[in-house]
Amino acid sequence: MKAAVYQGSRRFTVEEIETPEPGPGQVLVKVTHSAICGTDVHAFMYDIAKPGSVIGHEIAGVIAAVGPDVERWQVGERVVAGGGRPPDGRGGLVAANPRYNYRTMGFAGSVNGGYAEYQRLPEWRPTRVPDGVPDAAAALTEPCSVAVHAVRRSAVRTGDTVAVIGAGPIGLLVMQVARAAGAGRLIVSEPAPARADAARRLGAHAVINPREEEPVARIVELAGGAGADVVFDCAGIGATLDQALDATRPAGQVVLVAVPWEPLSLEPANWMAREVDLRVSFASEPEDWHRALALMASGRISAAALISETSFIALEQIQETFEALTAPSTQLQVVIRL
Ligand SMILES: [Zn+2]
Repeated sequence: MKAAVYQGSRRFTVEEIETPEPGPGQVLVKVTHSAICGTDVHAFMYDIAKPGSVIGHEIAGVIAAVGPDVERWQVGERVVAGGGRPPDGRGGLVAANPRYNYRTMGFAGSVNGGYAEYQRLPEWRPTRVPDGVPDAAAALTEPCSVAVHAVRRSAVRTGDTVAVIGAGPIGLLVMQVARAAGAGRLIVSEPAPARADAARRLGAHAVINPREEEPVARIVELAGGAGADVVFDCAGIGATLDQALDATRPAGQVVLVAVPWEPLSLEPANWMAREVDLRVSFASEPEDWHRALALMASGRISAAALISETSFIALEQIQETFEALTAPSTQLQVVIRL
């Protein structure tokens, strides 16, 4: 099969590697769409992916083969590569290691990821894709589940003013999930025009350009003078966490969703008198995948809105695409079509 193998030093090679065979308790998924995740771009940028590995975890595909003794899957079923509950006693990486460190361990284990024509998975891992969710949108189930997880960890209540800093795929999904959870006013801060437009199209009440306006003062003003009830930092770069804390109302909440890969500077004296709560949200739980698929199937959130005809690339374009994505992107979401 064709796969993009990470070679180290910010280099992928697209090559023929052996197609994995599903063993007992395993299935083989023919990947149809594999979305490029910001986290993978960071793994590339900071060269933390393991040389020789195939990364990529936002896939949709169909069951192509099942191992001996596998009864729960039939060839041809549409699936995403996650959301299944591990058998008893086998939790995820984080549950298995109370000192799990995403920066140092996050990419150490991946060898058989989704930037390839096929992916072999334990049979418990995939989840069926409901009718009405097309494959390309289904490939975004993982980032949708991250948004669902973040909003469920938040204190968002009916009618709240919610601000989202960063309207990349995660920010746009968090915004929609917050609305589905009852948020009232949605304020988005995003400098890239294509992403700002998408936020407007998806129902943001106000979109701030932080290069043209001071985002904290503007969020506070739009939120009625005291600050937003909940601010989600979906950018995680430079000053955004500090901005989020500073733009929150007294006793409001900041949820850090993006993974900052570099140390950040904070000015606590600006906001600590308001006793703002800081919460972090990391990845998602299997239930969040099911909730994400249900929200997509019912039309309450649109992952398809993040994708346009220019979103699609061939696997062979992965190197140039990753290089382009290390700079601020105008692209909303890139999806490899296989
Ligand atoms: Zn992802």
